[in-house]
Amino acid sequence: MDRFFSQKTCDRCGADLSGGRIMSMYSTDCICLTCKEKEKARADYQAAVKAELDEVKKGNMNFIGIKG
Ligand SMILES: [Zn+2]
Repeated sequence: MDRFFSQKTCDRCGADLSGGRIMSMYSTDCICLTCKEKEKARADYQAAVKAELDEVKKGNMNFIGIKG
């Protein structure tokens, strides 16, 4: 698989990822849950979530188009 699942430490703070890992909402960084909580506290976090959802919607539309 890719680096996301194989790496041992947080891209942002270098902490051990044995306690959990998650993709940053702002980049493809693999970060620890502590860093994720910090992201959630950012003022623009909801905008980042919305941007991500918009991309997913685009992907779904493409998928439906292929099947239809
Ligand atoms: Zn971290």
